[in-house]
Amino acid sequence: MATAPQSVDTEAQRLARRHLWMHFSRMGAYGPGHEIPVITRADGCYVYDEHGNRYLDGLSGLFCVNAGHGRAEIGEAVGRQMAELDFYTLWSYAHPRAIELAARLAALAPGDLNRVFFTSGGSEAVESALKLARNYHRMRGKGQKHKVIAREVAYHGTSLGALAATGITGLRSQFEPLAPGGCHVPNTNAYRLPAGRDPLWAADAIEERIEFEGPDTVAAVILEPVQNAGGCFVPPEGYFRRVREICDRHDVLLVSDEVICAWGRIGHWFGCERFGYVPDLITVAKALTSAYAPMGAVIASDAVAAPFMEGDASFAHGFTFAGHPAAAAAAAANLDIFEREDLCGRVREKEGEFRAMLESLRELPIVGDVRGAGYFQAIELVKDKETKESFDDEESERLLRGYLSGELYRRGLICRADDRGDPVVQLAPPLIAGREQFEEIHDVLSGVLADAWERTVG
Ligand code: PLP
Repeated sequence: MATAPQSVDTEAQRLARRHLWMHFSRMGAYGPGHEIPVITRADGCYVYDEHGNRYLDGLSGLFCVNAGHGRAEIGEAVGRQMAELDFYTLWSYAHPRAIELAARLAALAPGDLNRVFFTSGGSEAVESALKLARNYHRMRGKGQKHKVIAREVAYHGTSLGALAATGITGLRSQFEPLAPGGCHVPNTNAYRLPAGRDPLWAADAIEERIEFEGPDTVAAVILEPVQNAGGCFVPPEGYFRRVREICDRHDVLLVSDEVICAWGRIGHWFGCERFGYVPDLITVAKALTSAYAPMGAVIASDAVAAPFMEGDASFAHGFTFAGHPAAAAAAAANLDIFEREDLCGRVREKEGEFRAMLESLRELPIVGDVRGAGYFQAIELVKDKETKESFDDEESERLLRGYLSGELYRRGLICRADDRGDPVVQLAPPLIAGREQFEEIHDVLSGVLADAWERTVG
């Protein structure tokens, strides 16, 4: 993973700096001496930039290329589909690939989650789930139920409705007022749980919030099985059982936002399987196609779908490209790979080895915590291990943006250095990763984190 000398003068750099608007990016930061990473090809667990440098894709694109890069058979399936039926809409029509995929997802989903509403991505899936929750209650004569309870620091997407559920102030404040009804409760950050506190207090906080808002006004609770933002917060034992009971008690729908946690990321088709709960709605996207095509979905229980399946009722909501035949063909080919290679089983088998590699980094003074599930792990960085003191905003800026992100990339590892909560480094490699990749991750991280400590604290 040697890094060749870089030039900022390629045509791609020039055009990108002038015309491309990158997402969540400080565009002004790119220029001489700070080039835009232009990824030109990919294979397996690796991607290559325009200079031919190789990087271990420790983030699976954006938590989505779960089957790994370069799976020609997915492209071939898409090509065959394009030749047969390029596009038809799901607005009052259907096509074979969407029908087959809906049936396949229903068969894989837990409980009686049998009805699939396709979208083009994760924010659309969350947006759709929230609208569906409101509409469902309204159709049952409970039109007051419109609020959604989500967790602090959780990310649920960027459209204005999904953003109302997202619990990250920095992402919300610039776009307010958001869709009304978003309420936030504590997350399950066990590392910072005050000593002696009941581990299930964060579940009980949901009930307290429902009661505070008035159960007649709350439509849904939306939670990820393992919360991404903040750094892979795993729920304590019994958390989801308690949340399920609370939702049932107050006639509130439980939405499991599995845009990241489904499709093997934490070792199962769906993240809720790992923690033994059955939600009313599941939102998925990303690795449904292993990102070979954009696609998302809401999978609804029979009970939630029922009011929409009778008489002249309809869910007055949709997206032109949702369930696109090419995306549905990509998803089917992707799921074939999952089944053939038992990628979920592989994650369960290998996650111990992956985790042990990360745990060994605890010997570094900057590593405060290692947490996560499956191939979805985070390392929390601290200034003082004993007191768990975190870096302040200015230190965090210097540490993460000023050093870590760039240096990890320069040394050939793509992962996420994030401070939407406390500073963390997150890893989510393709599910085909094994010992060789774990060792590479270890080697790069141990060097960079040791240097980061010297530069920031030492
Ligand atoms: N929900 C969760 C849990 C996510 O992680 C994301 C994206 O990362 C979204 C929703 C939004 O998905 P998208 O970026 O496809 O709109």
